[in-house]
Amino acid sequence: MQETDYDVIVVGAGFAGIACARTLAQHGARVCVVDRKRDLGERIHTTGILVAEALLHPCLAGLPAAQIRAVPHVRLYAPNLRSVRLAAPDYRFYTTDTPALMRWLGDGLVERGITLRLGTPFRDAERTGDRWRLPGIGRARWLVGADGATSRVAMRLGLGRVDQWLYGVEHEFDGVALREPDALHCFISKHYAPGYIGWVAQTPTGVQAGLARRHTPGSPVVPDIDGFLRHTAVMTGLSAPGRPDSIRAGLIPCGGPVHAWQRDGVVLVGDAAGMVSPVTAGGIHAGLRHGSAVGEALACRLQCPDAGDIPVVTRAVPGFRTKRALRWAFDHAQFDGPFDLALRTPFMRLVAERLYFHRRGHVVPAPDVSPSMD
Ligand SMILES: Cc1cc2nc3c(=O)[nH]c(=O)nc-3n(C[C@H](O)[C@H](O)[C@H](O)COP(=O)(O)OP(=O)(O)OC[C@H]3O[C@@H](n4cnc5c(N)ncnc54)[C@H](O)[C@@H]3O)c2cc1C
Repeated sequence: MQETDYDVIVVGAGFAGIACARTLAQHGARVCVVDRKRDLGERIHTTGILVAEALLHPCLAGLPAAQIRAVPHVRLYAPNLRSVRLAAPDYRFYTTDTPALMRWLGDGLVERGITLRLGTPFRDAERTGDRWRLPGIGRARWLVGADGATSRVAMRLGLGRVDQWLYGVEHEFDGVALREPDALHCFISKHYAPGYIGWVAQTPTGVQAGLARRHTPGSPVVPDIDGFLRHTAVMTGLSAPGRPDSIRAGLIPCGGPVHAWQRDGVVLVGDAAGMVSPVTAGGIHAGLRHGSAVGEALACRLQCPDAGDIPVVTRAVPGFRTKRALRWAFDHAQFDGPFDLALRTPFMRLVAERLYFHRRGHVVPAPDVSPSMD
């Protein structure tokens, strides 16, 4: 296989890698993106829900309208299935046709002159002078590890590794409609989703229903998604969804940024660097922002070669301190009873609206929906 010289090789064509590559290319860098997948729309492991801010990211400008669906409300359920409806003025979440979105993002790389090599797994890299050489791929001044929560780049090159995860599983049902399609349905339940939540959402192509829970390496527990679907059917209207048309699953970093996410000529971005909110587990917007910020910083280094291997410093590196504290509390003191009692109290509503809408939220009074009887 022919090896080529690049300024930067990005391993991983997920949200973070794509944002990083596009930012670099915009500054004139020669960039190669490699991904082990043969098709970026295959083996998706994200629900793909976007916060409204994510749509302002340059990578998503011009996104075909058919690939997203606006979801203006959140319906948050206590373990006893009583709920509140949350909304914020002019704020929306967006569900996506994620396989189509990833293919569209991949096409965008090629249109911008970025070399995209699919079906090309990263195995290892060696340092030769001031460059990294990836056998069978090429050589580059910088290597970016955008290869997700279990980054091989981090493992092989001695960078910090994610060591706290949630494990999420999601079933997709094509052509199915929810009883309340304009809400993102979020279920608090220590039984079904200890350490996180369950969710059900209408997408451009059907319905996605998922569960995530704390992941303990060595003794993984598979979330009981069938039980969850039965338990919530009265609320969602998904009484007999049948077999899922597809299943998505994966690990979600939840411990905040890894300690060493950069060293001589190699930088981690997105999930590989732990850039995921420890509470909401949202990593798409964080990955896009982090990828772009690292791309900007690397472009500066490339433009002044004497800068050497000084660390890449970016402003878009959140510490997630408050969210890590909330994660600790959720892990160590999650009980269903208090949520049943407190969901409708002003304090809980305030916390919920802050989490979902940051400072823009207000609670919309909504008719109660009867809890399920099972
Ligand atoms: C079940 C689930 C649901 C989620 N839902 C949401 C959600 O709704 N909204 C949200 O904001 N976040 C969600 N997240 C989190 C979000 O998906 C991630 O934070 C985000 O996708 C991270 O993007 P990334 O580019 O860093 O990594 P990834 O999306 O993981 O991309 C990594 C890429 O690297 C490639 N790769 C991996 N190893 C190699 C290798 N050795 N060689 C070459 N290529 C390699 C992979 O094929 C992949 O394309 C969810 C996560 C899971 C697991």
